[in-house]
Amino acid sequence: MLYLQSGWGIFALVSTLDAIPCPCASALLQVCGLTVTYAPRGERPVPALRGINLDVAPGEIVGILGESGSGKSTLALSLLGLLPASAQVEGSVLLEDEDLTKTADSRWAAIRGAKIAMIFQEPGLSLSPVMRAGDQVGEVIRAHRPGARKQRDQEVEVALKDAGLTESGRIYKAYPHQLSGGELHRVAIAQALVCRPALVIADEPTRSLDVTLQAEIQNALRDMNRKQGSALIFITHNPALLTGFADRVLVMYAGRIVEAGPVAQVYRRPLHPYTRGLLQLVPERREGAGLASVLTGNRLPVIPGHLGDLDSSAQGCAFEPRCAARTARCQAEAPEEVAPEPGRRVSCFNYGK
Ligand code: ATP
Ligand code: MG
Repeated sequence: MLYLQSGWGIFALVSTLDAIPCPCASALLQVCGLTVTYAPRGERPVPALRGINLDVAPGEIVGILGESGSGKSTLALSLLGLLPASAQVEGSVLLEDEDLTKTADSRWAAIRGAKIAMIFQEPGLSLSPVMRAGDQVGEVIRAHRPGARKQRDQEVEVALKDAGLTESGRIYKAYPHQLSGGELHRVAIAQALVCRPALVIADEPTRSLDVTLQAEIQNALRDMNRKQGSALIFITHNPALLTGFADRVLVMYAGRIVEAGPVAQVYRRPLHPYTRGLLQLVPERREGAGLASVLTGNRLPVIPGHLGDLDSSAQGCAFEPRCAARTARCQAEAPEEVAPEPGRRVSCFNYGK
């Protein structure tokens, strides 16, 4: 009897949870039910994104966290209209009420750089080797606001300084090969922000940098976010980079957002078993662990198993084979997203257990 009562209690709680059809209406960016399948001719289709719902408010910093292959870059490319022709897209991506999934190629030139900008993982590769750094930043302005060269140069100098490049004169005239890794990153930041876009997407922008430079680049991004009010989507596989930096975190697994909420709340009390596993990998969360355990030869923690092949015909939860909290239901059915408390979302039948 006691068992039945507690069973019904749980049922009643779950059934009154808010359904989450779509993000809030006041957002700068609203992504609803975004599904992307790569279907190259003659190859097995890859369901890279499955029903992504996400909203970003003006000026907000949102972290997207997930391991390799979870769909982070596919999401970034979808927002910029840069998916390859083999990608089949369903759902909508509204930026200031314009649906970017229906945007014509000719219109994209006016959107990229001006309304939405991207900082890639290896900025050195996205810069032209035969153009001076300052001219490359100036080109972004010229593409959107033709005007006098002198005025443009002044704006470039301000953008370089804002990105933390105090020697803006030297940097302006330098070719990419004459700049350090940190300086290249800052030029890419200046390029992304010079037209004050409403939204910047940074896809693992600090992956190739040492820890000190990582922190410096993140500080530069946050300063720009505060000064210009541009919202930032910061993509990473490293949970530690979002602490004290992002307002909210979205955790991705196999093309789905499995958990979302304010960083402080999610990190203090993760609800999804995958988020719990990811956070255990952050050294400072593990008592007595850290560099010492590496140096003494102790094994580093990992989430057992791997992401595996993405399969559109799979019925159950994609994390089930690796999940310590799995039940029979998880293999048969994919969990719907629920909002167990204000501002938090999770897709798991057994969340919090
Ligand atoms: P990483 O952390 O390694 O950058 P990611 O989270 O950014 O990974 P994606 O690059 O978005 O992941 O890839 C998601 C899935 O889509 C993977 O299974 C990947 O192999 C597949 N994929 C990505 N691009 C293509 C493509 N052009 N054609 C076919 N499959 C692709
Ligand atoms: Mg990627």
